Amino acid sequence: MVSTINDIRAIPVGLPFQQHEGPPAGFGGKVWQTLDILLVRVETSDGIVGWGDAFGYNALSSTKAAVDDLVAPLGVGQDARDIAGVMDRLSRTLHLFGRSGPVQYALSGLDIALWDIAGKRAGLPVAQLLGGAGRTAVPSYASLFRIADNDLVARVCEGLAEDCFSAIKLHEIDPHATLAARQGAGPDIDLMMDVNCPWDLVTAREAAAIMAPADLKWLEEPIWPPEDFAALSALAASGIPLAAGENVANAEEMTRLASAPGVSYVQPSVTKIGGITAFHRAAQAAKLAGRRVAPHSPYFGPGLLATLQLAAVHTDIEYIEMFGATLTTPLFDGFGLPGPDKRFAIPTGPGLGADPEPDVINRFLLG
Ligand SMILES: [Mg+2]
Repeated sequence: MVSTINDIRAIPVGLPFQQHEGPPAGFGGKVWQTLDILLVRVETSDGIVGWGDAFGYNALSSTKAAVDDLVAPLGVGQDARDIAGVMDRLSRTLHLFGRSGPVQYALSGLDIALWDIAGKRAGLPVAQLLGGAGRTAVPSYASLFRIADNDLVARVCEGLAEDCFSAIKLHEIDPHATLAARQGAGPDIDLMMDVNCPWDLVTAREAAAIMAPADLKWLEEPIWPPEDFAALSALAASGIPLAAGENVANAEEMTRLASAPGVSYVQPSVTKIGGITAFHRAAQAAKLAGRRVAPHSPYFGPGLLATLQLAAVHTDIEYIEMFGATLTTPLFDGFGLPGPDKRFAIPTGPGLGADPEPDVINRFLLG
């Protein structure tokens, strides 16, 4: 049956949240009042509605413009069943406006929605369309906002360990914060440190020496600029396993990162890299190169459900990121938050497995 894309619509929502102890949350130079998500709603001629998620937060307005002005006009009228063809054609047509950033985020949202539609048409979860149903749940790790006070870092980590989290990731800059976190969390917790690309190689080596006793599972994005894969490879000799990839623009670039010696974990981000299609390709390339996949997924919308579907296929994914925020009103009924055992259930319904609740969208719609 013909299934033509009839409508592509970007819908911005800002969800209220509560956070752990520490200064107000925010990244990228902005304090967050709400968690801002850009939903991408796609409707087909045979009446199927799919939901995608294009990287939002501070970039939400820019990404919405990319959906409205670039992706939607080209996507409407295309065959929704031909995800590979649609993504290839739009990527080629739009490449001169950027193979990264808002254009790529907007394409990611469309791709996720098309996979949701494909699953709904088949009556199967996306994981099964991709050839996997390897598990029904995946552990989460607590991904903390920057605290910038090492005594408080220790206290928050102690509380999370008591609350049965088995893994915690810091977003600090001071390497000594890892020692405080280890002291608070105890020896049995997997501890990760994400510094968001601050250092040159010399500084990173000094920091790695300070952090060595914290026994990190991984050190994430230690090097500025993030494209300097050679410096990452050189830093690997410090002995701390390295993770990177959330700022890699597309699957092709991720293949190059996965080939860089010494990067243990590659971190595709489904709402940034080009959606489920690109994440799946990147994860396959990572595995062929002998790397682990550790998704970047500070998401609460369809991007999180898409990551969970991919985790059912790529069973080397050990943890899913649980951002340090508690939604006061979840977007999905019954999915998207870890249970008491700190595991995310992987939805088994058709497509991504759940649609955003219409009343939540209406209530928290942004301007
Ligand atoms: Mg990160």
